[in-house]
Amino acid sequence: METTHVTDPVCGMTIPKSAAEAQSEYQGRTYYFCHIACKTLFHGDPEKYVNRLNQTKEQPA
Ligand SMILES: [Zn+2]
Repeated sequence: METTHVTDPVCGMTIPKSAAEAQSEYQGRTYYFCHIACKTLFHGDPEKYVNRLNQTKEQPA
């Protein structure tokens, strides 16, 4: 089975989807978190983290 990696928008960690401890839908997209604490932070200010994730994607190193 193929392992899909996802980026935790709060701490920026890349983790296998199967290792995500929490997930949440926001504006029609699903976000994955390495820890429940990251999900809690995300919901405190979801737009901040979503925007940061998008910026990271648009600026490849
Ligand atoms: Zn995290």
